[in-house]
Amino acid sequence: MPFVSHIQRKPPPLKSQPHECNWPGCELMVKPDRWACRVHLAKLPSLIRHRLWATYRIGQDIGEAPLTPEYEEAERAAQEWASAN
Ligand SMILES: [Zn+2]
Repeated sequence: MPFVSHIQRKPPPLKSQPHECNWPGCELMVKPDRWACRVHLAKLPSLIRHRLWATYRIGQDIGEAPLTPEYEEAERAAQEWASAN
């Protein structure tokens, strides 16, 4: 008897769009799960950067998961730091 497998294939992930780096004045396009480009992420204090990583939820950039208040707060902190530096 032939073994028939019905492997449930996950649909491919929705194509999420790159966005502009959130650093003021920077127009580099970055991956949706990045807050800023490489250079500017590196400029953030590690505490803020870690908060962005820690609170990011997969899918939030394509509307699959709501932004958490924690992420919004981390983003605000990053934004403030960026504008001040
Ligand atoms: Zn940048």
